[in-house]
Amino acid sequence: MRTTLWLAAGLFLAGPLAAEPYSEEDLAIARELRESALAGDGGYEIVAELTTDIGPRLAGSEADARAVEWAVALFEEMGFDRVWTEPATFPTWHRGLERTEVVSPAHHELVTLALGFSPATPKGGIEAEVVMFDDLAALEAADPAEVADRIVFIRNRMERTRTGAGYGRAVGARSVGSRVAAEKGALALVIRSIGTSNNRFAHTGMQRFDSDVRMLPAVAISNPDADLLERLMAGDEPVRIQVEVDAETVEAYTSQNVFAEITGSEMPEEIVAIGAHLDSWDVGTGAIDDGAGVAIVTEAARLIKALDRRPDRSIRIILFAAEEIGLWGGRAWANAREDEIERYQLVAESDFGAGRIYAISARVKDEAWPVIAAIQDELAPLGIEIGDRGGNGGPDFYPAAALGVAAVDLRQDGTEYFDYHHTVNDTLDKIEPDALAQNAAAYAVLAWLGAQAPMDFGSGETILAEEAQREASAD
Ligand SMILES: [Zn+2]
Repeated sequence: MRTTLWLAAGLFLAGPLAAEPYSEEDLAIARELRESALAGDGGYEIVAELTTDIGPRLAGSEADARAVEWAVALFEEMGFDRVWTEPATFPTWHRGLERTEVVSPAHHELVTLALGFSPATPKGGIEAEVVMFDDLAALEAADPAEVADRIVFIRNRMERTRTGAGYGRAVGARSVGSRVAAEKGALALVIRSIGTSNNRFAHTGMQRFDSDVRMLPAVAISNPDADLLERLMAGDEPVRIQVEVDAETVEAYTSQNVFAEITGSEMPEEIVAIGAHLDSWDVGTGAIDDGAGVAIVTEAARLIKALDRRPDRSIRIILFAAEEIGLWGGRAWANAREDEIERYQLVAESDFGAGRIYAISARVKDEAWPVIAAIQDELAPLGIEIGDRGGNGGPDFYPAAALGVAAVDLRQDGTEYFDYHHTVNDTLDKIEPDALAQNAAAYAVLAWLGAQAPMDFGSGETILAEEAQREASAD
């Protein structure tokens, strides 16, 4: 043991490892993986099957259970070394009907979707005068007297960006608008869809759910319908609308995170995990969110499995349960790994559609950054640049961020993602096979080189200590 440590330290200090972290053989395999992924379909057949045979798969629905069975069968058929599931328990929500209607000063039916965990209205709906706010902050600042007994309309419009940053700026209206409006005595919430399309369909999505907090019936209307409502609000007459929702929340359902592993030959206890989420919203077929991610990581692992040699460390696929309704699979995964996060060499999730990857960002210990740079060298032919330090690997790895998990974000072009996100229009035709193959190539290279890396990336205490130190020196 001691000899090995000294040898490793000696090699490192002597320089060759520091200058070039990877052997020629490992790099040659990375290039082979990259080229074979580009020559393939990126897993297009996988997402075609998932969206066609299973379709929409809201967490807790009958289709969710079928999707779990489908994934287990797929992984077993592909011949991974180990295939298993781990439970995740969460409250579920079921959509009945939703309706938003302007009753005066003109009559309009607005294209509507209820938001996740919206309670039902009384049958026939709620009718009241509308009070409009520019964004969540304006609602938060409002005098309750302006809001009480009215229907709140938040009109903020999501901005289109490559990074998806516009989503983060706008989504608060959806995630907490209902509870803020409830505190001020409103009767219901209507938001402009958090999406970038001008087509006439609404974008659903999650509201932060807590069974102890009162929420209002809450719906999103399409962008053109929100424009219409704004024009009506600009007139002199009060605008009255009806909102009707029928929906049901069920306290507990248990679904499964689904795993497949290629067991490492040298350090099988150390793991590179690439993930996606298996659930989707109940509208559309969950093609870009997140059937694409399921296809990308499965295809990447399949290519590595097809090599005539094993990676040094183990590589795992994780298909998370119940991401859309509150990261429940990700939370269950993190909770079960509180005492062994150091085993996770690197994690990365594909959950941003099927657009091309343009940058690699990473949250790793300082000493390992040159290894990330060496990985980027092999991603450069795919058009992938070096990004910033940081990130959390994707939404389902966010709950593990507090444990200090080492994570890579392969940043996808999200310019068009929010045209389809959480809508009836999230369907297979939105996926471009060439772009999917570019993603699969990047994940294959990342997983392989992550598993062959000459050092760990600092998961756990090392990363947390370095971050605490940086924060202290910044003060
Ligand atoms: Zn997603």
